[in-house]
Amino acid sequence: MLDLAIIGGGPAGLTAGLYATRGGLKNVVMYEKGMPGGQITQSSEVENYPGIERVVTGMELMEPWPKQCMRFGLKHEMAEVERVLKEDNHFKIILNDGREEKALSVIVCTGSTPKKAGFKGEDEFFGRGVSTCATCDGFFYKDKEVAVLGGGDTALEEALYLANICKKVYLIHRRDKFRAAPSTVLRVKNNDKIELILNTTVKEAYGSNMGLEGLILVDKENKERDLKVPGIFVFVGMDVNNKVLKQEDGSFLCEVNQNGQVVVDLRMRTNIDGLFAAGDIRIEAPRQVVCAAGDGATAALSALSYVESLKG
Ligand code: FAD
Ligand code: NAP
Repeated sequence: MLDLAIIGGGPAGLTAGLYATRGGLKNVVMYEKGMPGGQITQSSEVENYPGIERVVTGMELMEPWPKQCMRFGLKHEMAEVERVLKEDNHFKIILNDGREEKALSVIVCTGSTPKKAGFKGEDEFFGRGVSTCATCDGFFYKDKEVAVLGGGDTALEEALYLANICKKVYLIHRRDKFRAAPSTVLRVKNNDKIELILNTTVKEAYGSNMGLEGLILVDKENKERDLKVPGIFVFVGMDVNNKVLKQEDGSFLCEVNQNGQVVVDLRMRTNIDGLFAAGDIRIEAPRQVVCAAGDGATAALSALSYVESLKG
């Protein structure tokens, strides 16, 4: 029986592991289906993590975390969790390879993943011109023209990153006001390699077996425009990864809100004793690395007192 199972190895999960093991929990496993680090490893520039003065890539930021967080005995298991069930006074963790594990407490830190925009051809050309990761795929478009879709921090920051590599970046946004930080908006507006296409959405992506060839855009007046680009980067927000909490009958193990975000209190406790959530998965998450890490620490401290109370 594990003292604590942590699901997800992003900033929240890693920090939860550090605090739980340093705080004295003995048998703590962090399940992470890929490499620890989380979604920030896809970011090309991070400039708002306190203590890191220079602008770093997400990969650079996260590189030292696993080593530090595992120093006190946290075990990393590279496995995908299928589902968490509650049984009497413990939880059952079901892995997607069929294995099962029992744990006294669980912290869910599964984060979020990029949303789809919903235009025709988005799935067909995914990985062949449609991308959600500029650091991963930007280099394929060196000295070419590309499009970026979205008006939030991610879209604008990644447009700036792509402008360093590509000949030109068309930033397509469905309104004329951006959600991104004002300083980022200013940098985008001052970048002469970025052309803004506002009040416009993507209707269709078209191409051939070789990949994407262009986009049909449509503006507020229903006027269409053919934009010939070999690549589009879609940054239209994130969906929370709450699948592990879904039970066989379709209900959730704990309370979630209308967007599927896990309802927690200020100690990251869900409405189920021994079950905690931290990071982007929780209600009102500010979706920042520093906040996810803080949540992870809070959840671990709550799990510590919960397990101590069970053991007496
Ligand atoms: P995540 O980082 O999403 O980590 C969740 C982890 O859980 C993932 O590694 C995933 O593989 C794993 N997982 C999911 N489901 C399972 C499962 N069933 N079984 C096992 N493992 C699972 N924030 C900032 O503060 N500054 C920035 O500059 C910034 N830039 C960003 C740029 C981009 C392009 C993106 C996408 C995000 C950016 N963010 C930024 C937001 C930041 O990355 C997130 O807020 C933060 O990573 C959330 O951490 P988390 O631990 O909650 O979740
Ligand atoms: P976001 O803030 O939710 O922005 C999504 C953008 O996509 C919005 O501009 C939205 O338009 C647009 N959009 C949504 N659905 C669309 C569709 N179907 N077609 C076309 N456009 C669509 O998402 P995000 O930029 O990924 O950011 C997520 C969170 O992470 C935010 O809280 C953000 O602040 C944070 N983050 C922070 C940093 C940083 O601090 N440096 C960096 C990256 C991300 P509308 O504006 O019209 O709704």
